[in-house]
Amino acid sequence: MQEAYSIINSQRWASPGVRAVGIVNPATEEAIGRVELIDAQGLDQALAAAARGFMLWKNTSAYERAAILRKAVGIIRSRQDEIARVMTLEQGKPLAEALAEVVASADNIEWMAEEATRAYGRLLVPRNAGIHQLVRREPVGPVASFCPWNFPALTPARKIAGALAAGCSLILKPAEETPLTALHIVNAFHEAGVPGEVLGLVYGDPQQVSEHLIASPVIRKISFTGSTPVGKLLLGLAARGVKRATMELGGHAPVVVFDDVDPARTAQQAVAAKFRNAGQVCTSPTRFYVQAGIYPQFVQAFADAARAIRVGDGMDAAVQMGPLANSRRIAAMAALTEDTLASGARLACGGKRIGTRGYFFEPTVFSDVPENARIMQDEPFGPIVPIASFTSLDEVAARVNALPFGLAAYAMTRSLARATAISGLLEAGMVGINHYTVSTPASPFGGVKESGYGSEGGTEGLDAYLVTKCVTQRSS
Ligand code: NAD
Repeated sequence: MQEAYSIINSQRWASPGVRAVGIVNPATEEAIGRVELIDAQGLDQALAAAARGFMLWKNTSAYERAAILRKAVGIIRSRQDEIARVMTLEQGKPLAEALAEVVASADNIEWMAEEATRAYGRLLVPRNAGIHQLVRREPVGPVASFCPWNFPALTPARKIAGALAAGCSLILKPAEETPLTALHIVNAFHEAGVPGEVLGLVYGDPQQVSEHLIASPVIRKISFTGSTPVGKLLLGLAARGVKRATMELGGHAPVVVFDDVDPARTAQQAVAAKFRNAGQVCTSPTRFYVQAGIYPQFVQAFADAARAIRVGDGMDAAVQMGPLANSRRIAAMAALTEDTLASGARLACGGKRIGTRGYFFEPTVFSDVPENARIMQDEPFGPIVPIASFTSLDEVAARVNALPFGLAAYAMTRSLARATAISGLLEAGMVGINHYTVSTPASPFGGVKESGYGSEGGTEGLDAYLVTKCVTQRSS
């Protein structure tokens, strides 16, 4: 049995009678460990440490901060197999995907470590002689970050890297359902030399923790990844203290497939992207709009490829899709399937839970899905996908943009003119044309509309933790 716990000042937080909840392997439903939940006194200790940590870290040279972050990268890389294994056990994704996530986490930290030394300000041209004016970029202050369970290493790594590169201290609250992976990541930073006060780790009741931390005057910025309803809740709390916020919320990414592509090849690529992490990805391609001329061939190839996916325990190297991360997702998939069938859509494959032990659900494909079906409006966050057809560019653009979400969007075409036109029309923070990799260390990751605002990654990911100060100085 493994234990996860809060860390304050580099020390395991402990309290008599501490409450704990179990950590469950979603492939077997067996308990693999427990996570201790912090109380209000513990949170106050974490806040006091973050306040001290900020004064310490903002006055540490950016070059020194960068060197420490690079050291953390080396530690994570040296333990990547072990961290990936823990991730698969507590979250369920196939081991190869877990390993790719740990590799990506290290790459993101490395990129941000380099960026730490490029937080340039600027010199203004003064209107009067003897006046010097400069714009400084300074760290915003102590940050509280909240992470979900779908990317247990990458989301914490990105939030820690951006904040620490900018010179902020950080209290991280990962998901209680996948706490062991985040513990590894945080330990790597501490071992690399990040002072204990600069990076705190807390697990607890999510509502209690977020309300307590965000209400504290110590916290100057929040960063949240998760669902839009919870994001709105946290934004409301942040607004009371006029605190900055980066919100990476839900999406419902459309894929517009034009009739000039090879339907079979395009469908196979789409299936690989859609069922990654069992569809529990905020940028997952989740609504397919296929031009009428290739619609039947695309649906057939998509269903064939989905049916061929090997589903099972992610520890088995032959498995391509693991279980869903928790039992809530199984219930959600069953309800969504029933609802989509009732809408008049055609079930092309899947539609059922697999077995009774482990949270496995069949890759499920619906075609001829009416626009008013719930699945066309609500993010499925699981291995269910709707496909519908369209005729013209203007018609499809209106349909895909009708939702309140705008995280990722995709289009498949061999026409430069169509690619340019659709890129301009799609209301999204990230657009993928002819591929699905919209997240890299150098690219800004974030959405528009109710998918949130602000970015992680890229130069924008550092800017998110900086404020500007204009200093105007008279020399005599
Ligand atoms: P949820 O909305 O209850 O929780 C989402 C995450 O937010 C969890 O990690 C949870 O611990 C955290 N959370 C919940 N209430 C909180 C609070 N008051 N303060 C701070 N954190 C809080 O739902 P869920 O059942 O875990 O996931 C369901 C939905 O969440 C999915 O359908 C999906 O739309 C969304 N989700 C999105 C992402 C993403 O990457 N954007 C990740 C996970 C889940």
